[in-house]
Amino acid sequence: MLKVILFDIDNTILSFDEYVKESMKNGFNKFGIGVYKEEMFDVFTKVNNNLWHAIEKGELNFAKLQKIRWNMIFERLGITADGEAFEKYFREYLFNSAIHVDGAVELLKYLYGKYVLCVASNGPYLQQVNRLKVGGILPYFSDLFISEEMGCAKPSKEFFATCIERLNSKSEEKILPCEVMIIGDSLTSDMLGGMQFGMQTCFYNPNSKLVPEEIDLTYNVTSLKEIKDIL
Ligand SMILES: [Mg+2]
Repeated sequence: MLKVILFDIDNTILSFDEYVKESMKNGFNKFGIGVYKEEMFDVFTKVNNNLWHAIEKGELNFAKLQKIRWNMIFERLGITADGEAFEKYFREYLFNSAIHVDGAVELLKYLYGKYVLCVASNGPYLQQVNRLKVGGILPYFSDLFISEEMGCAKPSKEFFATCIERLNSKSEEKILPCEVMIIGDSLTSDMLGGMQFGMQTCFYNPNSKLVPEEIDLTYNVTSLKEIKDIL
């Protein structure tokens, strides 16, 4: 039986991609480093994903990522600019950004009251909480599992174990990992992490990415709307 749903935040309920495009467009203008073009977003995504995978593997930490991310992106784009200064702007801009993923609010409304809803996110605590607040969706969640505050990140066993522990400390009935579902857009941090801990998994897969055989998903959906038909 399903009792609890853990929602990833970025690119699952709040669009990180749209925010990045918006901040690059405005930031390039503000920093006087030329005109933003759509293909530049792909460079950002590639560099950023590689850095986050290194964090997931424990090879990098978030503080270091902030030092190198935009310098790496600018280098690839052939742009001469201060990457650390741009990072600061980028993060300040992110603090108040809350562009909903299509269908996110409708889904939360539908699930609220049926299940215990929580977020499970790798990121800075105050920023993620503020974005949920700005986006008007904070009240749907009964707990916020955010890596910075927990001192561990998805997909580590420690992260998911802490979620279960905290859920049980507030619940009269014991909650088992198999009664928890994680919904997210990352195969590595959300799906693999949840699966290895014995949770149900729902892959939000809007680009219909191929799923490697070793990742045994419970559900694979291309829109959040589909989740309403499943749950
Ligand atoms: Mg995500």
